[in-house]
Amino acid sequence: MEGLFSVETTYFADVILPVPIPRMFTYRVPRNFVDEIKIGARVIVEFGKNRVVTAVVGRIHETPPAKYQAKYILELLDTEPLITKQQLWLFDWIADYYMCCVGEVMNVAVPSGLKVTSQSRIQLNPDFDHPELLEENEIEFLEILKNHASLTYDDALKFVGETNINTMIKSLIGKHAIIMYEEVKEKYKPKIAKKIRLKRVYEGSEEVANLIDSLTKNVKQQTVVLEYLRQVPMHQLRERNQFGVDKSFFTQGETSDSSLNKLIEKGILEQFEIVVSRFGDDMPTEPVKIELTEAQQQASNEILSNFQEKDIVLLHGITGSGKTEIYIDLILQVLEGGSQVLFLLPEIALTTQIVVRMKRVFGDKMGVYHSKFSDNERVEVWKGVLEGRYQFVVGVRSAVFLPMDNLGLVIIDEEHESSYKQYDPAPRYHARDVGIMLGLKQGAKILLGSATPSLESYYQASTGKYGLVTLNQRYGNAQLPDIQLIDLKAERKAKTMKNDFSGTLCQHIEQNLAIGEQTIIFQNRRGYSPYLNCQECNWIGECEQCAVSLTYHLDSKELRCHYCGHKEEIPRACPACGSGKIRTVGFGTEKLEDDLRIMYPAARVQRMDLDTTRTKNAYQTILGEFEQGNTDILVGTQMISKGLDFDRVSLVGIFDADRMIHFPDFRAAERAFQMLTQVSGRAGRREKKGLVLIQTNNTQQSLLHKVVANDYMGYYNDEIKEREGYFYPPFTRVISITVKHEEQDKAEKAAHWLANKLLEKLGKARVLGPEKGMVERVRNKFLFDILLKLEKDKINIKSAKVFLQEQIDAVMTQREFRGVYVVVDVDAV
Ligand code: ADP
Ligand code: ZN
Ligand code: ZN
Repeated sequence: MEGLFSVETTYFADVILPVPIPRMFTYRVPRNFVDEIKIGARVIVEFGKNRVVTAVVGRIHETPPAKYQAKYILELLDTEPLITKQQLWLFDWIADYYMCCVGEVMNVAVPSGLKVTSQSRIQLNPDFDHPELLEENEIEFLEILKNHASLTYDDALKFVGETNINTMIKSLIGKHAIIMYEEVKEKYKPKIAKKIRLKRVYEGSEEVANLIDSLTKNVKQQTVVLEYLRQVPMHQLRERNQFGVDKSFFTQGETSDSSLNKLIEKGILEQFEIVVSRFGDDMPTEPVKIELTEAQQQASNEILSNFQEKDIVLLHGITGSGKTEIYIDLILQVLEGGSQVLFLLPEIALTTQIVVRMKRVFGDKMGVYHSKFSDNERVEVWKGVLEGRYQFVVGVRSAVFLPMDNLGLVIIDEEHESSYKQYDPAPRYHARDVGIMLGLKQGAKILLGSATPSLESYYQASTGKYGLVTLNQRYGNAQLPDIQLIDLKAERKAKTMKNDFSGTLCQHIEQNLAIGEQTIIFQNRRGYSPYLNCQECNWIGECEQCAVSLTYHLDSKELRCHYCGHKEEIPRACPACGSGKIRTVGFGTEKLEDDLRIMYPAARVQRMDLDTTRTKNAYQTILGEFEQGNTDILVGTQMISKGLDFDRVSLVGIFDADRMIHFPDFRAAERAFQMLTQVSGRAGRREKKGLVLIQTNNTQQSLLHKVVANDYMGYYNDEIKEREGYFYPPFTRVISITVKHEEQDKAEKAAHWLANKLLEKLGKARVLGPEKGMVERVRNKFLFDILLKLEKDKINIKSAKVFLQEQIDAVMTQREFRGVYVVVDVDAV
């Protein structure tokens, strides 16, 4: 029996291309790759005219494509799969479920450092010093490269000619002579450390002794060897020699470089290189000692016993109950059993204490996957998982794409967070739901955690589909805060308001300042004020492209569109009537910060929102200042509501609760309850009981009373009835469809055409709209929305999706609707 693939047969590979086309494409496997090619390996193929892209092998077979002549695969990049079979399965599932193309999933899933496209650039490796390895034509090519900072793949093609290019590039990469990287992105370059070790022949005790003797005439060289032996005591730990010592150890010390080099020349020591992690292995792990409280231990036991019967468990633990500690305890157990663990966190929580805490326990065994990381760093985590260095990864939503294939546990913390959903571009996936699928497929257990579970998850728990574990006690003696409503109407009447601050809130801020305790002010809207308004003619500053009002930013002295990023200068006079009476209306975080500085000039005020945290470390800096007590008042958006845990915060003031509750969206109440509860949870985390003041125009709202009473169940029972009555999730699945075109008329007609088709098939009750988009126009395109509500028990959602896709294809290919674009969002949040 020969190898799996006999040489006589012609083989074909179906590859996944990184483009939004619904099918795989078939290429012919050149004979010289037949033995090496594997499913999940990357290949370079020509796609379209003169476009060279990286694709991934999805299938290998012997059937030539019926409708076209298969081109040859140009190059094989991996001899081992870069994408595991488990991942290919998951990518297919995502494409299918979220109605997009598997190429789009691949595109988002794989860090760009692992892709080679015609946008790739090639440059000389500045560290290359082995010209003796080069072939004649390679030297020529390097000469050309020397005259350019870098070349695109296409330019290189012109210089070298089609037939040789790929072989040559592969060879040069192999010799470390060139670096290939994505334009606009940083180039992936592994970090290399130079190391020194004793040649193997000297490893024995006798050999070591003889060696030292032989060097008595050369004291300097002897010193170097002795220094080495002090680091690597050969008689005790001979096996440690293979890891050697950093070269820098010698070059920094007293020994001269030249004796070191002599010893290398003589063949006594040798230099070698290793690839080191960019994350530094310097974090000391403390001996792990997790001591759960009685309540935590009980919760942990309940989780484990639930896992005996159920794959998914929801941990409903109030803020400050110490869910992290329970997670750590479970993770340790699973890792000990040899399985992998994936821990998902919302983006913003990842930069906080929880990761520091975990890093202290798991050290360099734990990979961190963050969207603010450079592509290089992401590639390293990816490779670390493939190579088995990271059995445990903490990451944001895109961590579900990592090549883990032996998962024992998937934890999704803050499972209610809507930021788990990717909104744009496709795949519009929900990382909680993908994480669940991923775990189930690999036979792992799944733990969802939240102080304010999503309606979806709590409903599953209440029907018994998920296990439910409740933790109602805060860690230590910490008590839940005292939450009070402030009646803005009454305060306005009594004229006790200062700007947008109620007198009651001011009074408590002042008290807090006096005793040196910290205050958090929450306003879920950034900017200075939402919009500019002319007092004479009522003109409002709007974005030309998006039909939304522009937000006034004092810092940068500009008006900015929060949808498309468009900026303009602040007009001195009204652009419509010329009047100078233009005023800001409402308030954002920036305005509140400003007011506070004026009202309390001695107080140290800081702001945390998207605008103040754009740079990589800004977030940590602001938090650090606050943590160390250098900030008295922190003003922030929802960013401050997550994962923070401070000792001295005894007051939280909440603005704009009413707008949250009445936002025109069926999830508004859910989001408001979650947000208000989470923000309140920042108050009084230790012995002291904190105070939360919620400013409202209507103190009668029942949702607010549920927040005040910390009554999750009450809120849940109210809300679940509403959802059932109006056919909203979790009783239905919603699919949101957006039809776009530059001409309003065309977009509207196409939307009606599509809605009618859907109506005929699915019935009136299941199709809402089309309606003008909540924002009518974004980036110069008019939007029309259709919402499908599909009951889980009465309709086959799979075939409904197939039907929907057919209708969308029909719209987009009709002449009448040329240029119309349709976006589908399954399980829109
Ligand atoms: P949650 O995520 O449930 O809101 P945390 O995990 O952030 O709560 O815990 C709140 C605080 O209590 C943290 O400072 C944490 O370190 C501390 N804590 C919780 N449980 C323990 C424990 N068993 N031992 C020591 N400290 C704990
Ligand atoms: Zn805009
Ligand atoms: Zn005007």
